[in-house]
Amino acid sequence: MIASVETNGLRFDMFTGEERFLAPNAVLVSARQDAFLIDCGFVKSDVEKLLKFVGQSGKRLRAIFITHAHPDHYGGVNAFAEAFPEATLLARQGVIDGMLEWPAKRLHWQDMFGDQLPVDLVYPRPLLGKAAYLADREMLFLDLPICETVHATAFYVPSARALIAGDLIFNRYHLYMGDTNNPTAWISAIEQARGIGPIDLVFPGHGKLGGVDICAETIRWLKDYRNVARPGVHFTAIAREMMRRYPDHGLALLLWLTRGPGFGTAGAREIGVPAELLGG
Ligand SMILES: [Zn+2]
Repeated sequence: MIASVETNGLRFDMFTGEERFLAPNAVLVSARQDAFLIDCGFVKSDVEKLLKFVGQSGKRLRAIFITHAHPDHYGGVNAFAEAFPEATLLARQGVIDGMLEWPAKRLHWQDMFGDQLPVDLVYPRPLLGKAAYLADREMLFLDLPICETVHATAFYVPSARALIAGDLIFNRYHLYMGDTNNPTAWISAIEQARGIGPIDLVFPGHGKLGGVDICAETIRWLKDYRNVARPGVHFTAIAREMMRRYPDHGLALLLWLTRGPGFGTAGAREIGVPAELLGG
């Protein structure tokens, strides 16, 4: 699925993966000739569609930026490195360090996604500096405080008043708290990003393209979570309560994922994850 918008000489195409593969967004930002890609999909079938879309855009892909070290945002690195050898693959060092956990994550996700997963990864080069330029348009790098991950980068294009938020913002999807469980820091991160300048377009990590109001919606969910997830409350009780409060939000499976040996879906049935969240 692609959502496209053109503004002030730039075009933004947001590609969304299939719901059963966590529906991650990737955003192609294009000027007349050149383009940047921010995140690059997860499983092979989605990545193939994204590759085709980027190829057919006719733009010269100059760089691929990875927002954070979760595989639903970097799973396409190998395929893109092969298909677009002239595009530089870039991420902040902290994000690269997190990507080194891929072999362990693959072990857990293979229960659900099997041979849809990449085996090895091509790792990005360190992203340095404060901004990149597409034609003469600036795209700023925002180093975020702890939010969904310890290290994450969002991107802001002032001339388009556009925030490419990665998993800083979710639109009508449950948030994944399993890495940091720190709603207060996450709220600060959103406030910091929202303060960067005027924002008309927000490209979330999951969910539809929105306006700046989806920042407030994400904060509302986090405040609810903070009330529900008090110390001592078991994570399965938190998951059930957040599903009750937000029955229409997608990806409730994210509420059931934890760090450590139980990360991913290993043992999912044993802890009572509703079967429909596991793809049947
Ligand atoms: Zn994600």
